[in-house]
Amino acid sequence: MVRPLSGGPHSGHDVRTALKYIARSAGIDRAKFASMRMCCERHVLARVGRSRKRYIGRILCYHTIGQEEWGVNDVTPSMFRRHIELALNAGYRFVPASQIVKTGGGPKDLAITFDDGMKSVLTNAAPILKDYNLPWTFFPVSEWTDQKVDWAKEKCLNWHDVEKLMADGAEMGSHSATHPDFGKIEFAQMVDELAGSRDLFQRRLGYAPPTFAIPLGQSMNWKDMSMKAAKDAGYDVIYAQAEETRPTGTIPRTFISKFDGDRIFKSLLQGKFDRWEEWV
Ligand SMILES: [Zn+2]
Repeated sequence: MVRPLSGGPHSGHDVRTALKYIARSAGIDRAKFASMRMCCERHVLARVGRSRKRYIGRILCYHTIGQEEWGVNDVTPSMFRRHIELALNAGYRFVPASQIVKTGGGPKDLAITFDDGMKSVLTNAAPILKDYNLPWTFFPVSEWTDQKVDWAKEKCLNWHDVEKLMADGAEMGSHSATHPDFGKIEFAQMVDELAGSRDLFQRRLGYAPPTFAIPLGQSMNWKDMSMKAAKDAGYDVIYAQAEETRPTGTIPRTFISKFDGDRIFKSLLQGKFDRWEEWV
Protein backbone atom coordinates (compact mmCIF):
# COMPACT_ATOMS: atom_id res chain seq x y z
CA MET A 1 0.00 0.00 0.00
CA VAL A 2 1.30 3.42 -0.85
CA ARG A 3 0.97 5.86 1.94
CA PRO A 4 -0.53 9.22 0.99
CA LEU A 5 1.76 12.05 1.85
CA SER A 6 0.33 14.91 3.78
CA GLY A 7 2.03 17.92 2.48
CA GLY A 8 2.15 21.08 0.46
CA PRO A 9 3.62 21.85 -2.91
CA HIS A 10 7.09 20.67 -1.93
CA SER A 11 5.96 17.41 -0.36
CA GLY A 12 7.33 15.30 -3.19
CA HIS A 13 3.90 14.03 -4.18
CA ASP A 14 4.26 14.86 -7.88
CA VAL A 15 7.65 13.19 -8.02
CA ARG A 16 6.15 10.15 -6.32
CA THR A 17 3.34 9.82 -8.85
CA ALA A 18 5.66 10.20 -11.81
CA LEU A 19 8.13 7.65 -10.48
CA LYS A 20 5.38 5.15 -9.79
CA TYR A 21 4.31 5.36 -13.40
CA ILE A 22 7.86 4.93 -14.70
CA ALA A 23 8.56 1.98 -12.38
CA ARG A 24 5.39 0.17 -13.40
CA SER A 25 6.16 0.67 -17.06
CA ALA A 26 9.69 -0.65 -16.58
CA GLY A 27 8.59 -3.65 -14.48
CA ILE A 28 10.69 -2.66 -11.45
CA ASP A 29 9.80 -4.69 -8.35
CA ARG A 30 8.06 -3.15 -5.38
CA ALA A 31 10.97 -3.09 -2.91
CA LYS A 32 13.36 -1.60 -5.45
CA PHE A 33 10.78 0.93 -6.49
CA ALA A 34 10.12 1.90 -2.87
CA SER A 35 13.80 2.47 -2.26
CA MET A 36 14.27 4.36 -5.51
CA ARG A 37 11.31 6.57 -4.82
CA MET A 38 12.47 7.43 -1.33
CA CYS A 39 15.92 8.27 -2.68
CA CYS A 40 14.41 10.64 -5.26
CA GLU A 41 12.08 12.27 -2.77
CA ARG A 42 14.86 12.92 -0.29
CA HIS A 43 17.09 14.45 -2.96
CA VAL A 44 14.32 16.57 -4.46
CA LEU A 45 13.13 17.88 -1.08
CA ALA A 46 16.69 18.73 -0.07
CA ARG A 47 16.88 20.94 -3.15
CA VAL A 48 13.45 22.51 -3.33
CA GLY A 49 12.03 22.11 0.19
CA ARG A 50 11.35 25.12 2.38
CA SER A 51 13.70 25.84 5.30
CA ARG A 52 12.06 26.73 8.59
CA LYS A 53 13.32 28.99 11.34
CA ARG A 54 14.00 26.86 14.39
CA TYR A 55 13.30 27.82 17.99
CA ILE A 56 13.60 24.47 19.78
CA GLY A 57 15.74 21.34 19.69
CA ARG A 58 15.46 18.50 17.19
CA ILE A 59 15.42 14.76 17.87
CA LEU A 60 16.85 12.53 15.14
CA CYS A 61 15.47 9.03 14.51
CA TYR A 62 17.92 6.38 13.29
CA HIS A 63 17.40 2.62 13.11
CA THR A 64 20.52 0.59 12.36
CA ILE A 65 24.14 1.57 11.71
CA GLY A 66 25.77 -0.81 9.26
CA GLN A 67 23.11 -3.53 9.28
CA GLU A 68 22.21 -3.66 5.60
CA GLU A 69 19.18 -5.89 5.93
CA TRP A 70 17.36 -2.92 7.43
CA GLY A 71 17.29 -1.42 3.94
CA VAL A 72 16.48 2.26 3.59
CA ASN A 73 16.57 2.61 7.38
CA ASP A 74 20.21 1.60 7.62
CA VAL A 75 22.96 4.22 7.76
CA THR A 76 26.58 3.15 7.32
CA PRO A 77 29.00 3.78 10.20
CA SER A 78 30.94 6.27 8.09
CA MET A 79 27.79 8.20 7.21
CA PHE A 80 26.72 8.21 10.86
CA ARG A 81 30.08 9.61 11.90
CA ARG A 82 29.83 12.17 9.11
CA HIS A 83 26.41 13.33 10.38
CA ILE A 84 27.86 13.89 13.83
CA GLU A 85 30.81 15.83 12.39
CA LEU A 86 28.56 17.96 10.17
CA ALA A 87 26.31 18.83 13.11
CA LEU A 88 29.18 19.65 15.47
CA ASN A 89 30.93 21.75 12.81
CA ALA A 90 27.68 23.66 12.25
CA GLY A 91 27.55 24.57 15.94
CA TYR A 92 24.99 22.01 17.14
CA ARG A 93 25.35 20.30 20.49
CA PHE A 94 23.99 16.90 21.37
CA VAL A 95 21.75 16.55 24.41
CA PRO A 96 19.58 13.71 25.73
CA ALA A 97 16.21 13.36 23.98
CA SER A 98 14.58 13.60 27.42
CA GLN A 99 16.05 17.08 27.82
CA ILE A 100 14.43 18.29 24.58
CA VAL A 101 11.15 16.68 25.66
CA LYS A 102 11.31 18.41 29.03
CA THR A 103 12.48 21.87 28.06
CA GLY A 104 12.06 22.09 24.29
CA GLY A 105 15.78 22.76 24.06
CA GLY A 106 17.46 25.45 22.01
CA PRO A 107 17.55 25.69 18.19
CA LYS A 108 21.06 24.25 18.12
CA ASP A 109 20.23 21.27 20.36
CA LEU A 110 20.09 17.83 18.74
CA ALA A 111 19.35 14.40 20.19
CA ILE A 112 20.00 10.95 18.71
CA THR A 113 17.55 8.05 19.01
CA PHE A 114 17.43 4.53 17.54
CA ASP A 115 14.26 2.51 16.93
CA ASP A 116 13.91 -1.30 16.88
CA GLY A 117 16.77 -2.33 19.21
CA MET A 118 18.94 -3.92 16.56
CA LYS A 119 22.39 -5.38 17.24
CA SER A 120 24.33 -2.73 15.35
CA VAL A 121 23.25 -0.15 17.92
CA LEU A 122 25.61 -1.95 20.29
CA THR A 123 28.30 -3.05 17.86
CA ASN A 124 28.57 0.00 15.58
CA ALA A 125 26.67 3.00 16.91
CA ALA A 126 27.61 2.92 20.60
CA PRO A 127 31.40 2.96 19.99
CA ILE A 128 31.06 5.95 17.63
CA LEU A 129 28.84 7.79 20.13
CA LYS A 130 31.40 7.05 22.81
CA ASP A 131 34.17 8.54 20.66
CA TYR A 132 32.30 11.85 20.78
CA ASN A 133 30.94 11.34 24.30
CA LEU A 134 27.36 11.92 23.09
CA PRO A 135 24.14 11.05 24.94
CA TRP A 136 21.57 8.92 23.11
CA THR A 137 18.34 6.94 23.43
CA PHE A 138 17.13 3.59 22.07
CA PHE A 139 13.76 1.90 21.75
CA PRO A 140 13.87 -1.92 21.65
CA VAL A 141 10.90 -4.10 20.69
CA SER A 142 10.50 -6.19 23.86
CA GLU A 143 9.67 -9.56 22.29
CA TRP A 144 12.47 -9.19 19.74
CA THR A 145 14.87 -8.48 22.61
CA ASP A 146 13.39 -11.50 24.39
CA GLN A 147 14.21 -13.46 21.22
CA LYS A 148 10.76 -14.93 20.95
CA VAL A 149 11.23 -14.99 17.19
CA ASP A 150 14.08 -16.95 15.62
CA TRP A 151 15.37 -14.27 13.29
CA ALA A 152 15.95 -11.93 16.25
CA LYS A 153 18.68 -14.07 17.81
CA GLU A 154 21.44 -12.81 15.53
CA LYS A 155 20.03 -9.46 14.54
CA CYS A 156 18.60 -7.89 17.70
CA LEU A 157 19.97 -6.73 21.01
CA ASN A 158 19.41 -9.22 23.83
CA TRP A 159 18.66 -8.32 27.44
CA HIS A 160 22.32 -8.41 28.39
CA ASP A 161 23.08 -5.92 25.59
CA VAL A 162 20.25 -3.63 26.69
CA GLU A 163 21.48 -3.70 30.28
CA LYS A 164 25.02 -2.91 29.20
CA LEU A 165 23.93 0.05 27.06
CA MET A 166 21.79 1.43 29.87
CA ALA A 167 24.66 1.00 32.33
CA ASP A 168 26.81 3.01 29.89
CA GLY A 169 24.29 5.85 30.11
CA ALA A 170 21.89 5.38 27.18
CA GLU A 171 18.23 6.22 27.75
CA MET A 172 15.86 3.36 26.93
CA GLY A 173 12.17 3.35 26.02
CA SER A 174 9.73 0.83 24.57
CA HIS A 175 8.98 0.33 20.89
CA SER A 176 6.06 -2.10 21.62
CA ALA A 177 6.02 -5.87 22.13
CA THR A 178 5.95 -7.03 18.49
CA HIS A 179 6.08 -3.86 16.34
CA PRO A 180 2.51 -3.81 14.93
CA ASP A 181 0.92 -0.95 13.03
CA PHE A 182 -1.21 0.71 15.72
CA GLY A 183 -3.31 2.22 12.97
CA LYS A 184 -4.58 -1.23 12.09
CA ILE A 185 -5.12 -3.04 15.40
CA GLU A 186 -7.97 -3.07 17.90
CA PHE A 187 -7.85 -1.43 21.31
CA ALA A 188 -7.38 -4.74 23.18
CA GLN A 189 -4.30 -5.54 21.10
CA MET A 190 -2.94 -2.05 21.70
CA VAL A 191 -3.23 -2.69 25.43
CA ASP A 192 -1.35 -5.99 25.04
CA GLU A 193 1.39 -4.33 23.03
CA LEU A 194 1.80 -1.34 25.32
CA ALA A 195 1.28 -2.82 28.78
CA GLY A 196 2.73 -6.20 27.77
CA SER A 197 5.94 -4.62 26.54
CA ARG A 198 6.32 -2.48 29.64
CA ASP A 199 5.69 -5.50 31.84
CA LEU A 200 8.35 -7.57 30.04
CA PHE A 201 10.92 -4.79 30.46
CA GLN A 202 10.05 -4.69 34.14
CA ARG A 203 10.46 -8.45 34.53
CA ARG A 204 13.73 -8.69 32.61
CA LEU A 205 15.40 -5.44 33.67
CA GLY A 206 13.58 -4.35 36.81
CA TYR A 207 12.72 -1.14 34.95
CA ALA A 208 9.48 -0.20 33.19
CA PRO A 209 10.19 2.67 30.77
CA PRO A 210 7.75 5.62 30.77
CA THR A 211 8.56 6.50 27.16
CA PHE A 212 7.36 4.88 23.93
CA ALA A 213 8.28 5.26 20.26
CA ILE A 214 5.44 4.50 17.83
CA PRO A 215 6.24 1.55 15.53
CA LEU A 216 6.47 2.86 11.94
CA GLY A 217 6.07 6.23 13.58
CA GLN A 218 3.93 8.15 11.13
CA SER A 219 0.60 9.89 11.46
CA MET A 220 -1.47 6.97 10.25
CA ASN A 221 0.22 4.54 12.64
CA TRP A 222 -1.38 6.02 15.76
CA LYS A 223 -4.97 6.78 16.77
CA ASP A 224 -6.58 8.74 19.59
CA MET A 225 -7.36 5.48 21.33
CA SER A 226 -3.72 4.43 20.99
CA MET A 227 -2.84 7.46 23.08
CA LYS A 228 -5.39 6.43 25.71
CA ALA A 229 -4.02 2.88 25.80
CA ALA A 230 -0.48 4.26 26.15
CA LYS A 231 -1.39 6.58 29.03
CA ASP A 232 -3.31 3.77 30.75
CA ALA A 233 -0.23 1.54 30.44
CA GLY A 234 1.92 4.16 32.19
CA TYR A 235 3.68 5.88 29.31
CA ASP A 236 3.90 9.63 29.57
CA VAL A 237 6.04 10.48 26.54
CA ILE A 238 5.20 9.22 23.03
CA TYR A 239 7.77 9.75 20.29
CA ALA A 240 6.51 9.98 16.70
CA GLN A 241 8.15 11.36 13.57
CA ALA A 242 7.29 14.11 11.07
CA GLU A 243 7.07 17.30 13.08
CA GLU A 244 4.22 18.98 11.21
CA THR A 245 2.01 15.93 10.58
CA ARG A 246 2.53 13.86 13.75
CA PRO A 247 -0.42 12.81 15.90
CA THR A 248 -1.53 15.30 18.56
CA GLY A 249 0.29 15.00 21.86
CA THR A 250 3.34 13.20 20.46
CA ILE A 251 6.98 14.28 20.35
CA PRO A 252 8.39 14.94 16.86
CA ARG A 253 11.51 13.28 15.54
CA THR A 254 13.33 13.68 12.24
CA PHE A 255 13.70 10.44 10.29
CA ILE A 256 17.13 9.62 8.85
CA SER A 257 17.58 7.31 5.85
CA LYS A 258 20.44 5.59 4.07
CA PHE A 259 20.27 8.25 1.36
CA ASP A 260 21.09 11.13 3.68
CA GLY A 261 24.46 12.38 2.52
CA ASP A 262 25.74 15.85 3.35
CA ARG A 263 23.16 17.85 1.40
CA ILE A 264 20.14 15.95 2.68
CA PHE A 265 21.41 15.85 6.26
CA LYS A 266 22.00 19.62 6.28
CA SER A 267 18.55 20.13 4.75
CA LEU A 268 16.78 18.10 7.38
CA LEU A 269 18.48 20.15 10.08
CA GLN A 270 16.95 23.19 8.31
CA GLY A 271 13.48 21.68 8.64
CA LYS A 272 13.00 20.75 4.99
CA PHE A 273 11.72 17.30 6.00
CA ASP A 274 9.41 18.40 8.80
CA ARG A 275 6.35 17.43 6.73
CA TRP A 276 7.88 14.35 5.15
CA GLU A 277 6.60 10.91 6.11
CA GLU A 278 8.13 7.60 5.25
CA TRP A 279 5.64 5.40 3.46
CA VAL A 280 5.56 1.62 3.47
ZN1 LIG B 1 10.39 0.47 14.32
